[in-house]
Amino acid sequence: MDIQIIRCAPDRLKAKPADESKLGFGKIFTDHMFTVHYTEGRGWHDPVIGPYGPITLDPTAMSLHYGQEIFEGLKAYRGKDGSIYLFRPMENIKRMNASAERLCMATIDPELFMDAMKKLVLLERDWIPRGEGTSLYIRPTMIATESALGVHPSSQYLFFIIVGPVGAYYPEGFSPTKIYVCEDYVRAVRGGVGNCKNAGNYAASLYASQKAKAMGYTQVLWLDAIERQYVEEVGTSNAFFLFGDELFTPPLSGSILPGITRDSVIQLARSWGVKVTERAPSMTEIISGIADGKLKEAFASGTAAIVSPIGQIYYQGKEHVINGGKTGTLTERLYNEILQIQYGDKPDPFGWRMKISD
Ligand SMILES: *Cc1c(COP(=O)(O)O)cnc(C)c1O
Repeated sequence: MDIQIIRCAPDRLKAKPADESKLGFGKIFTDHMFTVHYTEGRGWHDPVIGPYGPITLDPTAMSLHYGQEIFEGLKAYRGKDGSIYLFRPMENIKRMNASAERLCMATIDPELFMDAMKKLVLLERDWIPRGEGTSLYIRPTMIATESALGVHPSSQYLFFIIVGPVGAYYPEGFSPTKIYVCEDYVRAVRGGVGNCKNAGNYAASLYASQKAKAMGYTQVLWLDAIERQYVEEVGTSNAFFLFGDELFTPPLSGSILPGITRDSVIQLARSWGVKVTERAPSMTEIISGIADGKLKEAFASGTAAIVSPIGQIYYQGKEHVINGGKTGTLTERLYNEILQIQYGDKPDPFGWRMKISD
């Protein structure tokens, strides 16, 4: 399918951010966006890269009532020589389609998805920041657009991609986070939609996150919904715990988001000879591991930060400090290695990097 490109009028182009150290996350978007529509019986049609702007929906658009909304998150990186790279983009495409199937939404042709992403990033290449650790964030999204009330799968969808420059996650170096172990509320349950990037999961997480923030913690550590004992995720990231020489991360049991960074961490650590076990540690193991020093490092993984060290855990009224509140050696090594692969500074033995322009 050929993508029609409608360029923004020159006098409508936005001013690019002057200070790359103030980009932050999710505040700035570029001049263009990609859109394509789906109609039952007709399939996907009218793919366009056109001016960025509001979308019009009927008040009964089904995504607004019944939550058929899924998204993805990945980045485009500018190497020192000016090359532009994506990191494992096919994995995001596959995950978007897995989310679509679970939520009875239309799946999208991977080739069209990839083509749209590359063309949009290249059209907006001047927006890709140059500073260390900065990137162009890519947010593919799909919403149900059929105008009708009554719970049923929508017969129409809008898929769009927007992109925007984002700042370095650690402009002043690593800062280990304080996390709050949540026992009162859960993010997802096995058999539910916790393994999809579906909007409702994030709405469900807000209440506990707000409570954690009010108490001075950065993130919530989510426990399993049944026993409230086994670790699931940290905020919107996957969780890792280094006990002795063995790295543990919860298995993909259905309630956990299958993070692409999670998979990269597992593959890298294994390639270095680290034993990685997909098993969820219990809070009992974590607290006793902190007490007797067996728990050496803990970190969260995700596209935004790559890895985020955990320095402190609040559980049942007590503070527990991990590794003296400092970033662990393995955590830091994983961060540096993945960062350098993403920006083209290191060889890419796994074939994760996709160069989209010299
Ligand atoms: C996106 C996300 C992750 C991390 O996935 P990556 O592919 O590594 O960015 C982890 N948990 C949740 C809940 C997420 O939404």
